[in-house]
Amino acid sequence: MSPKIDVGILGATGTVGQEFIAELVDHPWFRVSWLGASDRSAGKQYREATPWRLPVVRPDRVADMVVEHVKPGNAPKLVFSGLDASVAGDVEVAFAEAGHIVVSNARNHRMDPLVPLVIPEINADHLALLIRQGEIKGWPGRIITNPNCSTIVLALALAPLQSFGLCQVIVSTLQAVSGGGYPGVASLDVLGNVIPMVRGEEPKLETETQKILGRMVETGIELHPVVVSATTTRVPVINGHTELVSVSLDTSVSSAELIDEIEAFQGRPQALELPSAPNQPLCYRHEDDRPQPRLDAGLGNGMTVSIGRLRVCPVLDYKFVAMGHNTVRGAAGAALLNAELMKADGLVV
Ligand code: NAP
Repeated sequence: MSPKIDVGILGATGTVGQEFIAELVDHPWFRVSWLGASDRSAGKQYREATPWRLPVVRPDRVADMVVEHVKPGNAPKLVFSGLDASVAGDVEVAFAEAGHIVVSNARNHRMDPLVPLVIPEINADHLALLIRQGEIKGWPGRIITNPNCSTIVLALALAPLQSFGLCQVIVSTLQAVSGGGYPGVASLDVLGNVIPMVRGEEPKLETETQKILGRMVETGIELHPVVVSATTTRVPVINGHTELVSVSLDTSVSSAELIDEIEAFQGRPQALELPSAPNQPLCYRHEDDRPQPRLDAGLGNGMTVSIGRLRVCPVLDYKFVAMGHNTVRGAAGAALLNAELMKADGLVV
């Protein structure tokens, strides 16, 4: 067996950073060897820098490591980023300039036409942008991103519908509190309540979806023409973003055919048997009362998006409910799958 590849985590102390650590504990290809976070954490042992907030055992080896400042130098070539967006933009560029491959969760570079925004089941071919990125940016390293947590759930749910001429989408989200990082929304604001807006999320759903479903052409990504209208809300759920979706399609199709497409949907991660790939990226639930975040967010180790309640929409064509784990499929697991795809394609050695 070849030795594991060392990886670093930018923003290792945050919600997504902890999820990275948990998912990398027994990873067959990668091994955490470097942690970075803010000045508040740098210089401290990981165990002192942040309380562990996941329901799995914190690995002692990582707990003993000393957190560093988010500066290139000691970090390994491959770094995952779970940095706060206020700093992620500049820090990730500094790492790419220093020759690192940055696999990021942050929003800052997602819509840069030279940065791939990848969900490996949908647009693995967009990794080809990394060649142009190197030529034009002149970085010895690279930046690759995964979408916003709500966008990942939506784009995966829409992917099998593309062949029926996806035209318009109306989506309303019911987003979990863990999506806002730690400590996130105050409990007194969100318990027994619904916050009718998640700041900055709606444009991400509306634009990132077009890029992910877009076509790789010689000059870059040609955006998909689908028009998305999004309303985002925060609800008192710990993990799992639920989305209420209506779609219009430009071909006539039965609900049974749509469900067949959803159930058959697979991509390169499944063909390549990547370590984090779920057998089923999408699971259709035939019960009327599913999906539910408490019961279904963990499906496929948090990497499967559940869909249910597909029915005719009297305004558009069809409507359904989709739900996925926001910190796993929507963040750390998404980045890990991207890195695994890059390794399988020889872009990470
Ligand atoms: P979080 O819990 O607030 O963690 C933020 C991380 O960034 C912490 O490690 C923090 O370090 C570090 N950081 C903050 N300010 C810094 C600075 N000035 N210099 C260096 N490091 C700094 O946030 P999160 O939920 O993990 O989200 C992290 C990123 O992933 C964000 O860009 C977010 O939008 C994105 N994302 C989150 C989710 C989700 O479901 N939570 C999903 C998709 C994408 P300290 O602990 O030292 O302050």
